[in-house]
Amino acid sequence: MIGGMQNYELVVSNLIDHADREFGGREIVTHWADGSRTRTDWSGIRQDALKMTQALQAANIQKGDRIATLAMNHSRHLVSWYGAVGAGGVLHTINPRLFDEQLIYIINHAEDKVMLYDAAFQPIIDRLRDKLPTIEKYICFDPPSGQNGFEEWIGQFNGDVTWAKMDERDPCMLCYTSGTTGNPKGVLYEHRSTTLHAMAGLQPAAFDFDAQSVMLPVVPMFHAASWGLPWAGAMAGVKFVYSAVNDPAILHDLTISEGVTHSAGVPTVWLAMFQHLDATGSDLGKLRMAIIGGSAAPRSMVERLMKAGIRVGHAWGMTETSPIGTVGSPTTNWHELSFDEQVDIVCKQGRPIFGVELCTVDDDDNILPRDGETSGRLLIRGPWVLQRYFKADEDAVDENGWFDTGDVATLHPDGTLQITDRSKDVIKSGGEWISSVELENAAVGCPGVAEAAAIGIYHPKWDERPLLIIVRKSGNDVSAEDILSYLSDKVAKWWMPDDIVFVDEIPHTATGKILKTELRNRFKEYRFE
Ligand code: ADP
Repeated sequence: MIGGMQNYELVVSNLIDHADREFGGREIVTHWADGSRTRTDWSGIRQDALKMTQALQAANIQKGDRIATLAMNHSRHLVSWYGAVGAGGVLHTINPRLFDEQLIYIINHAEDKVMLYDAAFQPIIDRLRDKLPTIEKYICFDPPSGQNGFEEWIGQFNGDVTWAKMDERDPCMLCYTSGTTGNPKGVLYEHRSTTLHAMAGLQPAAFDFDAQSVMLPVVPMFHAASWGLPWAGAMAGVKFVYSAVNDPAILHDLTISEGVTHSAGVPTVWLAMFQHLDATGSDLGKLRMAIIGGSAAPRSMVERLMKAGIRVGHAWGMTETSPIGTVGSPTTNWHELSFDEQVDIVCKQGRPIFGVELCTVDDDDNILPRDGETSGRLLIRGPWVLQRYFKADEDAVDENGWFDTGDVATLHPDGTLQITDRSKDVIKSGGEWISSVELENAAVGCPGVAEAAAIGIYHPKWDERPLLIIVRKSGNDVSAEDILSYLSDKVAKWWMPDDIVFVDEIPHTATGKILKTELRNRFKEYRFE
């Protein structure tokens, strides 16, 4: 050997060891469901994770066994991430808003051995328990007073243990897609993919984290690995501010009182926050970075945040991509651009961070030009992109390693990604495509509109035409004519909805996205006059 470098395994326990060693006193704050607030720090999280490792060993948990969580965002949930993985287990974060049948399916499919859950989800546990034969142990994170729970379970141990020895290609986490078509599918993240993905997330062009960052993740810990934040945060020594309740008033109070600089959530979360700000006349304090992903950020949202001096990190990704694929960040010529031109850029989905490659293809799988115009199926590959679904018989990628995202997109010459729609949501009118997302996001900018959804409705001549479904802001009587006239200079004429209907509520998926399948079902008999 002429020389070389060390064989240092990229395993997740390194992250928490680093956080303890370099940023041990950096705080982790939690607002609990009962209204109380607690504070711990990265060293405290590590110490409790070590105790949990001992508790799992005592429960005879073996390498690779799945440890499930059914919980909101809080410090004990964070402990359980590092504890489960540190013990050699595979952390399986479950979305409590899934239907019972889906929960039963994924828990049995994952063969979870231990279930850690919030008291708020006790009714789910009581309903499903008989149908979950693989679970040997149930532990409540926040039991009613007088009962034993997570603290008592790990409290029997002293933390004097070493992490399980893992190979970097061993699995560490299992996340299921929400299953809008068919059964949910499991995506198994590895120690290596998780570590690389977390490193990629730190950079200024992505989440822009450092030891001064104070992060309030509104994205739940059960949604696409919370976008990798619990892992990336440990690398940079981020202070986390968690809320186990998703109430804009509480989130706002935490933002101000804890000096939050970074936050992350799906667009609906920001809409709710804006309503709170409007009602109370308050602002977002020290917030300087808003990460928005999961669905396209409406222009009005981007504008409002940017006008307040807040950088918007518009991110695109999916459970299958760990999830970061692209993130928007200021371009080279940023300061030469007008405000409107900057907003134009931020409304697109950003550029790939190093590690992932993107391309678009036509129906015959020919690679399309990156010309900012041609749209096609978006493919992705990279070290934190899915190869094969959990327990599947075959790979989910083509012979060149590309994974088909199910999104339709345009790539610009500088690499900027622009998502047109999900392939199943585009409205196909006369052989051309109308982006339901763009229609919705334009409509949300109309004063009086709280939320908008666009779906394709059968049309005898055009195949499909758009129906716009609107929720008015409370107390507002915005009319269909008002919305059409607002849209008239914002979308192409042939994109204009053929009709607008008003509803009290738009259904959402378990991750807060508009539930198009249910809307299509609800309006399946609807016909334009
Ligand atoms: P699901 O919504 O199925 O639970 P994911 O959370 O993994 O699963 O969703 C991934 C999908 O969300 C992407 O394929 C894309 O359609 C959509 N998406 C994510 N981020 C964005 C974004 N910034 N703009 C538009 N669409 C997005």
